[in-house]
Amino acid sequence: MSENAAHQAQANGGAKADRGIFSPRLDDFLDRLQEGQTPNSGTFCSFCYNPLTTGATRCDHCGQVLADRPAINSVPRDVVEMHRRMRKRESLIVNSFAFFGLGLGLALFLGLVAINVLYLNRELWFFFIAIIVFLVGSRVLAGVIGGVIGDEIGYNYGHKKLAEDWRLHLATRESDRHGD
Ligand SMILES: [Zn+2]
Repeated sequence: MSENAAHQAQANGGAKADRGIFSPRLDDFLDRLQEGQTPNSGTFCSFCYNPLTTGATRCDHCGQVLADRPAINSVPRDVVEMHRRMRKRESLIVNSFAFFGLGLGLALFLGLVAINVLYLNRELWFFFIAIIVFLVGSRVLAGVIGGVIGDEIGYNYGHKKLAEDWRLHLATRESDRHGD
């Protein structure tokens, strides 16, 4: 009972604990699975699906004692799907922010062209500067806004939704388990 409570606390914990729903090894395994680099087989903790090392008696991610709850040989489809959805949400946000950065670069370029036309008598050299600012600026802005800000927000959003999916998965799985 106290062990279940510990699991529950881990599953329901704050944003920090939510980040640890999937172990780094499981994240890595599911990324490779999604890319078709590995079959869905191995030895996994039947509570948190952490890939286990040979001879382990206890899961090194959630602490599940394997004698109490034997390991399983593949990750359930449901869990593979929730990881896929998490990655999709993350990349959608990163890409949206990157496009916003590109858009800002374009706005900067148009602003410089407008200055050139309105105030500088359409100087060719200033037009080239505007192009360089556009080429470099849009790349840098896309990289910073997408890769830094978007990445952080995408990560948090993806993991927040993963925590919701995970709670649902746990509730369904544990009620099925006790129903048997
Ligand atoms: Zn585990």
